[in-house]
Amino acid sequence: MISDIHANLAALEAVSEDAERSGADAPPWVLGDIVGYGPEPNEVVAHLRDAKAVAIAGNHDRAAVRSIGVEEFNPLAARAVLWTADALSEESRTFLSSLPERLKRGKFTLVHGSPRDPIWEYMVSAAALEENLEHLSTPGCLFGHTHIPMLVWMKPGGPTLVESEHGKTIELGEDRFYLNPGSVGQPRDGDSRASYVLLDEEAGTVEFRRVRYDYSATQKRMEQARLPRALIARLAFGR
Ligand code: ZN
Repeated sequence: MISDIHANLAALEAVSEDAERSGADAPPWVLGDIVGYGPEPNEVVAHLRDAKAVAIAGNHDRAAVRSIGVEEFNPLAARAVLWTADALSEESRTFLSSLPERLKRGKFTLVHGSPRDPIWEYMVSAAALEENLEHLSTPGCLFGHTHIPMLVWMKPGGPTLVESEHGKTIELGEDRFYLNPGSVGQPRDGDSRASYVLLDEEAGTVEFRRVRYDYSATQKRMEQARLPRALIARLAFGR
């Protein structure tokens, strides 16, 4: 499971290699924001098409193909969206335009933001998680958008956060849950490493993974593309 790649090819390649080394043998599930912020939107789309990725759309993907406006984006994000819209090939635009906003895969619902507002809602409070259960028809919800890796059990007594450190295998039990694999291309939890999650459907387990990648290569390409400096700098800090 991968999310928020944000047109960062070096990060995506590092994650693909790590997943392969770890025995991943199925196409990735992609939870939106494939493009936006980063310098390689067409390369990232091509990579996902080759990998036969199962993907849904995020707010940046929708804005990059102009199916929503940039009014709700902060000024730097809006600049990057407009750069991306300009840079997209016809093929990439067709791919991104075709993405649904929600998919079901077995026990999981895939959305970018939340079940009730798949494109925009940031699920960052216990109340949001509780309220969204009504809109969820599967045991598990996989989401992105916040760029923070997270697993939460929805226990009768309230949401319970599970430690999501690198390399720990976690069994998916009887409780309903929300899982965010974190961001591949622009982590925001203070750790610059790309973040993703391996799923073993047969064993019913997940494993959070962090992968070092050469962010200076991505930064160089962002400089060449004259993308905003603050967006270039944040890759080194994971903020
Ligand atoms: Zn994002």
